[in-house]
Amino acid sequence: MIKIATILQNYLRVKRIQKYSPQRFRRWQNKHLQKNLTWIANHSPYYRQLNIGNISDLTQYPFMDKQMMMDNFDALNTRGVSKEEAYKVALAAEENRDFSPTISNATVGLSSGTSGSRGIFLVSEQEQAAWAGTILAKLLPNGFSNKEKIAFFLRANSNLYESVENKKIEFAFFDLLNHYDIQIKRLEQYQPTILAAPPSMMRRITEAIEANRLNIRPIKIITMAEVLDPLDEVYIETIFQQKIHQVYQCTEGFLGCSCSHGTIHLNEDLVYIEKEYLNDEKTKFYPIITDFRRRTQPIVRYRMNDILTLKSEPCPCGSPMLAIEQIEGRMDDFFIFYNKEQDDLEYIFPDFIRRACITASDNIKEYKVIQHTIDRIEVQILVVDEERRRETEQKIASNLLSYLQQTVQCPRITFAPYEEKDRLAKQKRIENKMPITEDMKNANS
Ligand SMILES: [Zn+2]
Repeated sequence: MIKIATILQNYLRVKRIQKYSPQRFRRWQNKHLQKNLTWIANHSPYYRQLNIGNISDLTQYPFMDKQMMMDNFDALNTRGVSKEEAYKVALAAEENRDFSPTISNATVGLSSGTSGSRGIFLVSEQEQAAWAGTILAKLLPNGFSNKEKIAFFLRANSNLYESVENKKIEFAFFDLLNHYDIQIKRLEQYQPTILAAPPSMMRRITEAIEANRLNIRPIKIITMAEVLDPLDEVYIETIFQQKIHQVYQCTEGFLGCSCSHGTIHLNEDLVYIEKEYLNDEKTKFYPIITDFRRRTQPIVRYRMNDILTLKSEPCPCGSPMLAIEQIEGRMDDFFIFYNKEQDDLEYIFPDFIRRACITASDNIKEYKVIQHTIDRIEVQILVVDEERRRETEQKIASNLLSYLQQTVQCPRITFAPYEEKDRLAKQKRIENKMPITEDMKNANS
């Protein structure tokens, strides 16, 4: 159980750090980074056998990704837990929907990656407390003056998410596996003050409110776990009459959230971030993260797949932490075409495809764009006015082509009615389903 003192402690810490000048913040961050690296180098069998020269120097550590982390799971973690044992516990929990069992006092969580590779993670009770404290401190609208009831929609539970309940705060966990009607009824009964859900679920909830099937008045709405598409953002904000707050979180950690000005700041008070730039203007990058608090399963120079866009102007809130314009989605969802000369491949950021669609017409209610092959993309739309469907499709096609023809061999664009996603699948409005060949992986690198 997490104590209110831990939460308060984290709350105060967060508030204090946010006021630091950039120089002071970097000094504070470096101190914590070096301290954790030193601890990890001495306690993780994997890092011990690497014999790193200067263990407080991050640049001497190798990069890691999900594959590497899973391949070296047994030696990396500092609790002597084997991957096999951890899987057993996680799978049993998933099957029984009972997430209380731990292993060597650590919670095991399972992540379903988009690429199909399953990840597994270990978090200690202390790390959970720090995590919950920080997430609450950053998201609670009124500090601790009112009791907050938080409805949390999640794909899979772990006891990470059930850890907070007391006089000031209460979490209710909503399993995304449950039936939609049951969830709507339960929401009505629960009357959350804070509602947190992936954008696709938030959209369904918003639809229920619009249809007068649900009456709730949360003071804060938070989306997480999927890319928030501008189309959904506008719809949800209009119905709820408030700004959406975004939490950028994944199995690798709680990486960022939006401030009072709606800007997403990366949680540089929890993780140290290196940037791998993706364009010459240095505005888009993959974050490489080093968590300077997690010790059970160290995260050191972990390369994420997400494309982030830096905010060009400083945020008026004054936070020294990195401000992000947009979380664009995963590298897997780049669209790939032949270049004009047909001698190389060209990668198109999902954001360009997204903008071409949503700026095409106000008749689009929902949309999805799928790349099937190198020369074919499919656009699915749900429209407000069926009579204008044809015209809307033509506008989308011309938007897409006018952009694409500048750089690539234009694909064929086909249209289809909008298909609802599987309830458990992550919502992706821009998706590349094309089989990726070795050629493609090696191009552009
Ligand atoms: Zn800000």
